[in-house]
Amino acid sequence: ADADYEFKYVILGGRVAAGYAAREFFKQGVKRGELAIISKEAVAPYERVTLSKEYLLPNQPSRLPDFHVCVGSGEERQLPEWYTDKGIELILSTEIIQVDLASKALVSASCQIFKYQTLIIATGSTPVRLTDFGVQGVDAKNIFYLREIDDADKLVEAVKAKKKRKAVIIGGGYIGLEVSAALRINNLDVTMVYLEPWCGPRLFTAGIATFYEAYYANKGIKIIKGTVAAGFTIDSDGDVKEVTLKGGRVLEANIVFVDVEARPLTSLFKGQVEEEKGGIKTDAFFQTSVPNVYAVGDVSTFPLKLYNEMRRVEHVDHARKSAEQAVKAIKASEEGKTIEEYDYLPYIFSRSFDLSWKFYGSNAGKRLLVRDNDPASGKQKFETFWIEKGKIIGAFLMNGTPQENDAIAKFARVQPGVDNLDVLKEELGLPSKEE
Ligand code: FAD
Repeated sequence: ADADYEFKYVILGGRVAAGYAAREFFKQGVKRGELAIISKEAVAPYERVTLSKEYLLPNQPSRLPDFHVCVGSGEERQLPEWYTDKGIELILSTEIIQVDLASKALVSASCQIFKYQTLIIATGSTPVRLTDFGVQGVDAKNIFYLREIDDADKLVEAVKAKKKRKAVIIGGGYIGLEVSAALRINNLDVTMVYLEPWCGPRLFTAGIATFYEAYYANKGIKIIKGTVAAGFTIDSDGDVKEVTLKGGRVLEANIVFVDVEARPLTSLFKGQVEEEKGGIKTDAFFQTSVPNVYAVGDVSTFPLKLYNEMRRVEHVDHARKSAEQAVKAIKASEEGKTIEEYDYLPYIFSRSFDLSWKFYGSNAGKRLLVRDNDPASGKQKFETFWIEKGKIIGAFLMNGTPQENDAIAKFARVQPGVDNLDVLKEELGLPSKEE
């Protein structure tokens, strides 16, 4: 079939990675009409992390155009005009439903055909729906997930409209924690439900989780652990009325928020490109197994040089940096040049209430909790170090200053040697305990 549109570069996906890739293309030099972003969403790329945080607050919530990329990294905000100005095509509200990497063609839901010379896949990830776990009553109204800005709008609408105001949050990861906090600030009655023995199980130690759970309890958030949602009951309007937990307990609920797991959006490319660990496999330049096809952000599984392993990372810092790396690599290869391999230091952050933490590196090995993790002490500041094979390899800091955050990032990158934990404890000169 003939192409309706043809571009030198196409970015498929329109959020974090796409926005940062566009900026890098602009920095490196791109001619008018050479680059297009194709996105299912109706708005120009924005910082997704806002959706579970400032977007949900009752007072002065964040709204577009406030958080278009690249405000998250302190750079110029790219409004829709920014793209027009640079001659970058923003093809919005356009879902691609078919991809043929061999003939370099993308087909949209309205049957338009887009051709490209170089493709950057930035389709990201999407929350797994409870439907996939065979839960009863999942079609009830007022069961929410956070994928796009539309989802956040629907949640905000429900929060504003509900009179009974009972919310159940399913999932104890950092997104569940953020949304719980935001709904509590909206004065809802909030209960969190999760299967694991403590919140943030993929990263948090018992010491970090103990702090969080006590802090949340003080804010009036109830926590039920060790169980999952087995089903929902629905009232005559089709709205959710109750959540039945495995084990039989029933919770009243007018709003349910679910964040249990995310899945990378790779299905369009199945069988056409190599995959690994659930993502699209790339090299250190985010080139996939198919020439001139790159994959960045949540969807890519890339060599994490620091730990000498292949990894997929679902965090915004990597979405930004991988996008920049891919564009630099594309531009360099056109000039017959090479660039350095991606050398990523994993970095995650989250914020809720007046808590803000950062984590750098790897959470393997022994753990040392430094300072005071009792929220009742009023300090709300502590760190945790992970120590493996005689080196500090990971560091978490609650409510650090920018300078302190830089310092822990450096620890995780440089991996200072620790012959003996007792010596380290003494050198730190702060209260600390092994976990
Ligand atoms: P995405 O942001 O998922 O973007 C994918 C884009 O592709 C979307 O625009 C989508 O519409 C589009 N798309 C997909 N398929 C198609 C198709 N077939 N046709 C057209 N368009 C398509 N990370 C942190 O480190 N800290 C945080 O505090 C944090 N908070 C978060 C809060 C929430 C609610 C969520 C969901 C994530 C959060 N993250 C956080 C993770 C971070 O937002 C992601 O890692 C990041 O958004 C990944 O960027 P991406 O561009 O790879 O993918």
